[in-house]
Amino acid sequence: MKAFEKTDEVKVLRDPVHRYIHIEYEVIWNLLNSRWVQRMRRIRQLGGAFSVYPGADHTRFSHSVGVYEIVRRMITEIPDICEALSEREKITVMAAALLHDLGHAPFSHAFEAILQESHETYTCRIIEEDPEIRGILEAAAEGLAKQTADVIRHQSANPLLSQLISGQLDADRMDYLLRDAYFTGTKYGEFDMERIFRTMRVENGRVVIKESGIYAVENYVMARYHSYWQIYYHPGARSYEALLRCLFRRLRDLAQEGRLPESIPEFEPLMKQETLTLDQYFALDEYACSYAFERLSHGDDPIAADLSARLLNRGVFDYIAATADNIRHVRACLEKAGFDPRYYQAKDDVMQKVYVPYHGDSNNAIWIRLHGGRILELSEASSIVSCLVQGKTLRDERIYYPKEIRNLL
Ligand code: ZN
Repeated sequence: MKAFEKTDEVKVLRDPVHRYIHIEYEVIWNLLNSRWVQRMRRIRQLGGAFSVYPGADHTRFSHSVGVYEIVRRMITEIPDICEALSEREKITVMAAALLHDLGHAPFSHAFEAILQESHETYTCRIIEEDPEIRGILEAAAEGLAKQTADVIRHQSANPLLSQLISGQLDADRMDYLLRDAYFTGTKYGEFDMERIFRTMRVENGRVVIKESGIYAVENYVMARYHSYWQIYYHPGARSYEALLRCLFRRLRDLAQEGRLPESIPEFEPLMKQETLTLDQYFALDEYACSYAFERLSHGDDPIAADLSARLLNRGVFDYIAATADNIRHVRACLEKAGFDPRYYQAKDDVMQKVYVPYHGDSNNAIWIRLHGGRILELSEASSIVSCLVQGKTLRDERIYYPKEIRNLL
């Protein structure tokens, strides 16, 4: 089999989280320069969190490059992983790392709620169907496009490849925790990745951590827990996303009545709930959305105009706990103030368990190898994690409404 082509010299990109990103294979360099990978520069990593944390404007692009670098280091610096994989498997897992978030929609999860398919499905469609991405992979090795998508679908012939990108202790989470902590300015997401690297081993085809690395792993689990509540589930960020859902609800209703404004053609298939072609999906990025909000804010429909202006100018909603009494009361106040509750009231519900122990799928657990060689699942090996998994699942339900009714509540 022919060897994979290398670039003339190792390409080095500077990055605030990993310091340097190293690229030495042509195929990775070509993927990096493809239009779908470049599109990720126009999609923020954290949806509405930028409306809470002024620094949180980093993109899916810098995150994806970071995940690639973590995987590249794992397969070159961790002897067990390096020995367990062929060159072709290494290329496959590096490509999958760089491409794993390709199918993300603007504003991440808020937008995903109105799509017919998940972002993972789009990611695999793009890898297997886009002529450019598919072409780059197939030119490097026949069958590589499908093998790369299989890693993302967790259907790889070698499950270790999927574990490195999305298991419980994986390159995707490691990068986003460190990156989101850096760009939001919160320190909760930081943990000692170098120590985890030093204690990573492979046993019977799965990643295990030596007992001496257990403190670093406990720290990682806590970093994840704090980041969820302080960043991903921050009610201010969720409030921005609630506003987006309200606008989309309005646009869908307008589309059903045949009154969708002509000024936003790229939204049309979405609002008519059609399955999007890849070209239509490509056109939907956050730049297109911002421009659409700008046009809508000057449009004829007063509700779409108002909600769009709020999105552009951070006119985010207030929020309170979603008890039945509060929901009724907010609704009455909205009606009194002349707001249509269908478009000015939204509810959401988030929950998180600190760490979910092993339930049948060994990819979904963190394994610790004790000094004597016995392998235990993390919550059995760590008394801190064992206490945490016995605690209750935290849940937070809120309703969102415009600030203007604050005085009526
Ligand atoms: Zn990711």
